[in-house]
Amino acid sequence: MTTDTVLDRFLRYVQYDTRSDERSDTYPSTSQQLVLLEALTAELRALGVRDAAMDEHGYVMATVPATTSKASVPVIGFIAHVDTSPEMPGAGVTPIVHANYDGRDLVLPDDPAAVLRLADNPALQDQFGHDIVTASGLTLLGADDKAGVAEIMTAVAFLVSHPEIAHGTIRIGFTPDEEIGRGTLHFDVTKFGAAVAYTMDGGDVGELESESFSADAMTLTFLGFNTHPGYAKGRMVNAIKLASAFIAALPGDQLSPETTDGREGFVHPYVMQSGVDRTSVRLIIRDFEDDGLKKKEEMLETLARSVVSRHPGASVQVAIEEQYRNMKRVIDGCPEAVAYAADAIRRAGLEVRSRSIRGGTDGSKLSFMGLPTPNLFAGEHNFHSRLEWVSVQDMEKATEVIVHLCRIWEERA
Ligand SMILES: [Zn+2]
Repeated sequence: MTTDTVLDRFLRYVQYDTRSDERSDTYPSTSQQLVLLEALTAELRALGVRDAAMDEHGYVMATVPATTSKASVPVIGFIAHVDTSPEMPGAGVTPIVHANYDGRDLVLPDDPAAVLRLADNPALQDQFGHDIVTASGLTLLGADDKAGVAEIMTAVAFLVSHPEIAHGTIRIGFTPDEEIGRGTLHFDVTKFGAAVAYTMDGGDVGELESESFSADAMTLTFLGFNTHPGYAKGRMVNAIKLASAFIAALPGDQLSPETTDGREGFVHPYVMQSGVDRTSVRLIIRDFEDDGLKKKEEMLETLARSVVSRHPGASVQVAIEEQYRNMKRVIDGCPEAVAYAADAIRRAGLEVRSRSIRGGTDGSKLSFMGLPTPNLFAGEHNFHSRLEWVSVQDMEKATEVIVHLCRIWEERA
């Protein structure tokens, strides 16, 4: 096991079915995740990481002890999630290594319609000569985030077999249920004990993300009045029509996921539960600024109230839940977390690609729990798709960046 490459590990991990399940009320949401988490614990121990252990929630934590004589080196952590998206089949993944990519179509054998084409995947332009791993056409691959798990494990194996490399205490965390938004629910930041951590869960090589969306959810419940439709004249108020009028009044050419990118936020209705008496609309609201969130929420509420004001007897209830906040606010308080990561990426011979995540990561939550956690590239592409892919050479680079980062924190202390 100590001579395993990042590819060996990755090919092993993707064969575990670790889908999480939003409908479950256990933690972790599926017991199959524990099978991989258990195996990772055993693998860490086999590498000589003696304190590796899984807690009652399934979190695996472990320590690579410091090799430096400096006492002032902060403890840093690396985190990856083991679960895969419940939106796609994840059992029976058959990984395929397409050696020496040359721009050809990569046909996935189990589904002739599943073809990875350069024309549809501009990121493949940077992969000529690399080895590309895909699934076989019927499942996702699980590079999100087993690429991150394999990279961290390989960096650990490298560090423990090279005690001459000076670094501080390194903490490792493997977590369940990220894909259903519960990855940090029981994560014990105090027990983890790091000053800074990095999630290895990003895409393009060189990527460094220290900013995420701020996110709220909103439920608008339109209340009408139901009565026998044959005798409803002048009395019935149909809540389905109220909600439809509200949806129809949303801006058509802006503020939606399908019309925004870059730093623009959006509002997005995604579930409706309809009845004549009461119809509720669930929306998510996203913006990089908390102020922008608020403005969007006020706009939605005004719109909903103006719809019901035209119908005597109709009303609307508004409920807002906070989901997560832009982690930049916390990470800005620890500028070296980002600066050292950028240095590590450059030291690996790569260009730094600083990006804002149009979504959230476990790092967004961890940052507000007191652990500043930027996100680094793991090499994943086409997340949650049967066309998901990762390149072996990108995974090797990510592993190298982890090792450089451990050294840089020691050098600068
Ligand atoms: Zn992920």
